[in-house]
Amino acid sequence: MTTDTLPPLPQKRRAAFCTKCGTSFTPATRDRHPPCACGYLAIAQDCDYSDDEMRAYAREAFIAGYAAAEADAKVCQVPPPGWRCTREAGHDGPCAAVEAPEELEFVARGMARLRERSA
Ligand SMILES: [Zn+2]
Ligand SMILES: [Zn+2]
Repeated sequence: MTTDTLPPLPQKRRAAFCTKCGTSFTPATRDRHPPCACGYLAIAQDCDYSDDEMRAYAREAFIAGYAAAEADAKVCQVPPPGWRCTREAGHDGPCAAVEAPEELEFVARGMARLRERSA
């Protein structure tokens, strides 16, 4: 499975709370103190992802990974990275391998993305 097939992580939600009237609302701006409907200034903060959002994300990531694995299973996976066999999976006889330098680039890009995500 490649990281390029992963959906983007959900955006962090923002919530504001007014200490005067006690209203919670979703601010339309990135302001630290967005105006409340009562005229007072509220306090805004980033919320963590909700369970529902993370569950939806995990499901999407799983489906994307599954689709990628399905596609991979149809072609021969014998040659090392940087080479690609043009025959189908489980073929008889030797591989018909061709150089695939873009595959190395692809792997490097995937690794870079993984590092970014875990940073
Ligand atoms: Zn208010
Ligand atoms: Zn092969």
